Amino acid sequence: MHELSVALGIVDAALEKVKDGRVVEVALAVGELTHINGEQLALAFEVASRGTPLEGARLKVRRIEARLRCVRCGWQGESFTCGRCGSAMEVLQGEEILLERLRVVEEDAPRE
Ligand SMILES: [Zn+2]
Repeated sequence: MHELSVALGIVDAALEKVKDGRVVEVALAVGELTHINGEQLALAFEVASRGTPLEGARLKVRRIEARLRCVRCGWQGESFTCGRCGSAMEVLQGEEILLERLRVVEEDAPRE
């Protein structure tokens, strides 16, 4: 399952940043070309974060629109072939998965 490896990567990246406390919210930006399913990702994140300071954190996902550019004439659009000259397009954005923000609370703070 694609989402599980993504979730494990998110947990790893977050754990590197968090030294103390508990993570209550994880904000992500996910490119639409990754074909990540938001619900599946939330489920996978629940599994991947179990037993870590991220357990129980809320996952917020922002979508990044796809943007592609023709390798020959520079035309930009969302298709995989150029709308002007028919050449192949390269991806400018939309394939990325970014960890944008973490909200961390002290370990002994009450749960929300
Ligand atoms: Zn073109």
